[in-house]
Amino acid sequence: MNTTPLNASELKAIAKEIGFLNIGIAKAKKLDREAKHLETWLTNSYHGEMSYMERYFDQRIDPEVMMPGTKSIITLSFNYFQEKAENTEVQIARYAYGKDYHLTLKQKAKQLIQWLETKYGNIQARAFVDSAPVMEREWAKRSGIAWSGRNTLSIHPKEGSYFFLVCIFTDLSFQEDQAMADYCGTCRKCIEACPTEAIHPDGYLLDASKCVSYLTIELKNEIPQEFLGKMKDWIFGCDICQEVCPWNRFAKKTIEPDFQKNEAIVHMNTKDWLALEEESFNILTKASPLKRTKWKGLKRNVIFVKNNC
Ligand code: SF4
Ligand code: SF4
Repeated sequence: MNTTPLNASELKAIAKEIGFLNIGIAKAKKLDREAKHLETWLTNSYHGEMSYMERYFDQRIDPEVMMPGTKSIITLSFNYFQEKAENTEVQIARYAYGKDYHLTLKQKAKQLIQWLETKYGNIQARAFVDSAPVMEREWAKRSGIAWSGRNTLSIHPKEGSYFFLVCIFTDLSFQEDQAMADYCGTCRKCIEACPTEAIHPDGYLLDASKCVSYLTIELKNEIPQEFLGKMKDWIFGCDICQEVCPWNRFAKKTIEPDFQKNEAIVHMNTKDWLALEEESFNILTKASPLKRTKWKGLKRNVIFVKNNC
């Protein structure tokens, strides 16, 4: 049996044609070191109310449990960068300026899998787009397409950090890429700029229960009063630790139609959001990531931020 790993250059060219920013390959291995970190992170309750983070621990850290027979993890990044929406009283994270990314990226990953099937025949391949217990950032690092910065986000030295990640698990064995080095150097800008001190003073560790993204999107209960006056004007997510990151000076505007600004959403001010009825909210956010908070959650956020002022 030929065990020579497959050359991935054609696969990489096709992925770029589909529109992916970068693609890298890592050998499927159990993530022993990360398993320990995850365990400590959960023990410290840094995941807040995101109890789903406690589930499927073994799948999360071991590709063999997630998909038996996996040999390679293909990790892909997709640019969503947009210039900041102007004249806004309240802010939403850039990834939510356009359409919900799950469907768009699943379709693109499917295109790549179809190409693999045509080329290699009866194979196993499964795409994960932020909807399964997969440690995408670790695979991005191992496959050489990003490092995990002090803000814990994936960063590429030429593209910055405004990108989504997709992982494809496959039983095909491709030549692996070299893991990416860390280029944070002595920088601490994200730690200093974080308004809620969610990033550990040494970086590389996030107390998600304090992060504005968690507070405005994941948290279902009331936002704790300790964050009053600290969330600036963010009502859905937060981009502060990306905005201050020097590597994002290289970010280029996405050309993906699905991720262009929804002008009806990005220019809404406090009054507009508060006046919005539930039905209108549902229509407005039907294809947007903002639907995640539901009408009630978004109103809660706007009122909380308004109290800040
Ligand atoms: S997203 Fe905002 S709140 Fe969360 S770590 Fe980054 S700067 Fe801090
Ligand atoms: S702001 Fe500085 S320390 Fe933080 S992720 Fe970017 S380069 Fe690293």
